[in-house]
Amino acid sequence: MSVSGDIERMNQPATETADVVLIGAGVMSATLAVLLKELDPEAKVEIVEQLDGAASESSFAWNNAGTGHAALCELNYTPRNKDGSISIEKAVRINTSFEESKQFWSYLIEQGAIESARRFLNPVPHMSFVRGAKDVEFLRKRFETMSAHPCFADMRYSESPEQIGEWAPLLMRGRKDGEPIAATRVDQGTDVDFGALTRQLLRHLGSLGGARVSYKQRVVSLEREASGDWLIELDVDHGKRSRQLRARFVFVGAGGGALPLLQKSGIPEAQGYAGFPVSGQWLRCDDPQLVAQHKAKVYSQASVGAPPMSVPHLDTRVVDGRSSLLFGPFAGFTTKFLKTGSPLDLPLSVRPDNLRPMLSVARDNFSLVKYLVGQVLQTPKQRIEALRDFFPEAREEDWRLEIAGQRVQIIKRDAKRGGKLEFGTELVTAADGSLAALLGASPGASTAVSTMLQLIERCFPERYQSEAWQARLGAIFTARAGQLAQDGKRLAEVRERTHRVLELAPQPAQV
Ligand SMILES: Cc1cc2nc3c(=O)[nH]c(=O)nc-3n(C[C@H](O)[C@H](O)[C@H](O)COP(=O)(O)OP(=O)(O)OC[C@H]3O[C@@H](n4cnc5c(N)ncnc54)[C@H](O)[C@@H]3O)c2cc1C
Repeated sequence: MSVSGDIERMNQPATETADVVLIGAGVMSATLAVLLKELDPEAKVEIVEQLDGAASESSFAWNNAGTGHAALCELNYTPRNKDGSISIEKAVRINTSFEESKQFWSYLIEQGAIESARRFLNPVPHMSFVRGAKDVEFLRKRFETMSAHPCFADMRYSESPEQIGEWAPLLMRGRKDGEPIAATRVDQGTDVDFGALTRQLLRHLGSLGGARVSYKQRVVSLEREASGDWLIELDVDHGKRSRQLRARFVFVGAGGGALPLLQKSGIPEAQGYAGFPVSGQWLRCDDPQLVAQHKAKVYSQASVGAPPMSVPHLDTRVVDGRSSLLFGPFAGFTTKFLKTGSPLDLPLSVRPDNLRPMLSVARDNFSLVKYLVGQVLQTPKQRIEALRDFFPEAREEDWRLEIAGQRVQIIKRDAKRGGKLEFGTELVTAADGSLAALLGASPGASTAVSTMLQLIERCFPERYQSEAWQARLGAIFTARAGQLAQDGKRLAEVRERTHRVLELAPQPAQV
């Protein structure tokens, strides 16, 4: 062995170890890291983030719509069945998943782990609003089906312009008479600043022994060792130095950046996955006079060919204690997987194993392509016209354009068609449970807690079933989503507690 070889090795940083490494400091990693520390306080946990702060990509407040998705207003969660009836299964699943999020946040507040809910969660009523006889009929039927379920028993319905105008004055002002309209309203909807939530979770995590968050550290490679551990190569401080971390378990919580890292991991379960990035834009208004006249999140129908995540909505947002209005999203096409990503992200993600699914999706989704081209070519005037469907008296000078985050939709293999495009989220896990990645973006941050609980169940099956972990989970979640979906009495009890702790008292109808 040569002396220079020894010196080289001495200059190389030693490989550090952790039980769990989480890639990305967004709401997903923050949620999982805090949950895992609750279950196993001794675990050595590290989050590594390429940017210089937390929640700077999709979890940043203005990069997403901040809707606490509980299926109280999103029409795409309740499709029509072939016989004309309304399917509410997905809505119930999302609603009860959001109840799990609320229980987790309530528990952390009660423990003093995070500060008051007002820093990240605000009560904002959720409304659905439709125009035209066909959509009115759909909304009426949807209301009848949903309000019969305990999850949605508080939903109200109206076809009266006066009532809808009382609920949301801007929707009705200047609207021409005659067109049938209808709306539903649930007072206990929420607006969530997922960025503020992430920062609170990470502050708490940093206060726990054996946990740390490291910034300006970009994961460049992931390799499984013969022992089954993962060796993670990091590029630190924009290439100034490198670092090696060894971990028993890795979570790829890299948002839009998850797909390339999953591909780097080489796990067979990653085969066939590809990503289709869709960028977003909002119109934003901070004029206090207008803002004071709208206190709701109002969702409507997506236009023909539009993907479900492009459903237009006019929202109250509460960020850093200040209210604003947001309208959108307007979609755009880009080849970047992250807002801070590279135009090469999409081309570099093409592999022999995902080429066929990608080509099949391109062939089968012409209406989506047409929709995106239409969106990209939209002028500022056309955007205001779209807003006027909601707020007929909207003036261009009151609104400005904001760039939202990136959503990388999932493309995966399909036995029949070769490939399919999905708009939900999907957990991809290694067979031995040593690595998990989260792909996709909807319903996203709202259901982070349920998704991370699923991950824990899949990747740590024995410990998840153990008495110790079940007891700890029972202290956080007095009832799980499945139980809440079946048991209205239990749901009411759980909501009584979480709404008290989270300060989600019902809002008055008029502002
Ligand atoms: C336009 C839009 C609207 C949305 N609206 C809503 C909504 O109303 N309600 C809702 O619940 N959800 C919504 N979502 C979804 C929600 O924002 C996301 O599901 C959620 O923020 C994802 O969190 P994350 O932690 O997975 O990803 P992110 O918050 O994107 O965090 C991933 C992090 O990983 C880091 N990273 C990536 N690659 C690497 C690497 N190689 N090394 C180190 N770090 C890396 C990134 O820098 C980033 O900080 C919306 C999303 C978008 C884009």
